[in-house]
Amino acid sequence: MDVELITIGDEIISGHTVDTNSVYIAAKLGEIGLWVTYKTSVGDDLRRMEEVILQALKRADLVITTGGLGPTDDDITKRAIVKVFKRNLVFHEDVLEDIKKRYEARAIKMPSINQNQALLPQGAVYLPNKTGSAVGVVIVEGTKIFAALPGVPREMETMVAEELVPFLTGRVRQEHIRVIKLRTTGIIESALAEKIMPITKLPESIRLAYLPSYGGVDLRIVSFGPTKEMATAPAENMAKQIRELVGSYIYGEDNDTLEGVIGRLLKEKKETLATAESCTAGLLAGQITAVPGSSEYFERGVVTYSDRSKMELLGVSENIIRAYGAVSTQTAEAMATGIREKAGVDYGVAITGIAGPDGGTEEKPVGTVFIAVASAKTVKSKKFTMGGDREINRRRSVYTALEFLRRTILGID
Ligand code: ATP
Repeated sequence: MDVELITIGDEIISGHTVDTNSVYIAAKLGEIGLWVTYKTSVGDDLRRMEEVILQALKRADLVITTGGLGPTDDDITKRAIVKVFKRNLVFHEDVLEDIKKRYEARAIKMPSINQNQALLPQGAVYLPNKTGSAVGVVIVEGTKIFAALPGVPREMETMVAEELVPFLTGRVRQEHIRVIKLRTTGIIESALAEKIMPITKLPESIRLAYLPSYGGVDLRIVSFGPTKEMATAPAENMAKQIRELVGSYIYGEDNDTLEGVIGRLLKEKKETLATAESCTAGLLAGQITAVPGSSEYFERGVVTYSDRSKMELLGVSENIIRAYGAVSTQTAEAMATGIREKAGVDYGVAITGIAGPDGGTEEKPVGTVFIAVASAKTVKSKKFTMGGDREINRRRSVYTALEFLRRTILGID
């Protein structure tokens, strides 16, 4: 069953309001196995609205609009519906009573323009609005279902969850869906794609999406089927095959976070951690301690921005800084061993780099970052070229350090 969403309003297409309605509806319909195939936004313009609704009805079995159901002159969705479906507006006494009661409850006299909202297209089913005055409109014509919902997100959400979803359940052929998100880091999207190429010849009922962000690339597997088992087995099988190919880059599934996974590992092993940060100035410590219960394994984090603080707080020798510079393998390693010893922990993690925009040289351009992890056995460091602006370099450094730490804890290279 193809579903199409149309969000209506000048404020949406002009960029003044972010269209969150279609995001909510798509996710909610996904829960009952309905897949959105197109989303369109259109302004408060009758001709264009009609055009968009007509086109959507040609392509999809279920069309849902939001917005433009209010009582004011710019709310013209119902006028478009009347033209598209060639139906008259019919007055609904009970709808008007409900609206009046809503105003009475707030001790306000209902403005007369609200009477418009009791006019609904002939033959439409209406969906009550528990939190506002615009009722939803549903028209069933042949095999097509059309629903117009209010634009105010809170009103629309209650209506979808409490009225539209129950209305649709049983009326539409539902499919079961199994979604598995594999979270990877430390590998770029194209390299990941190359590695999993052997298994990307997929049947129609399964989809694989790459979702890159600062922290890494998520692989989302979505599988459909007429029964729960028929949807689940192919998704799980595919996840298994992907794990075989790129397992070492996968730190978790679904809602796992890198810092959360590291926290679990440290707790399991009863090990502890401390950080020393230069260019990220506490962002790493902040991310680690965003996890509830992190005090069990996180001992301290120090910000050592200046050379003097690296020497005073971490015991980095002046000679190292003089000979190699504050942004170097040697300084990063000395910072990591320094914080590990001072804090008396199992792992010391250090970040030193040039976040930019100034301070780069030919040898060490902006975005050059050295990250080191010291453990009881060794101290290892790596040079990274983040290649972004200040904000990106700092954020990437944090994720890279977390991944370096995860690999060290697990003993993966
Ligand atoms: P009501 O009569 O209950 O106000 P309406 O259908 O007339 O409903 P609109 O006037 O279109 O609603 O929009 C009302 C508010 O909802 C506006 O503030 C608008 O920014 C917001 N809104 C509308 N559409 C969306 C959307 N797609 N995503 C997020 N917010 C939206």
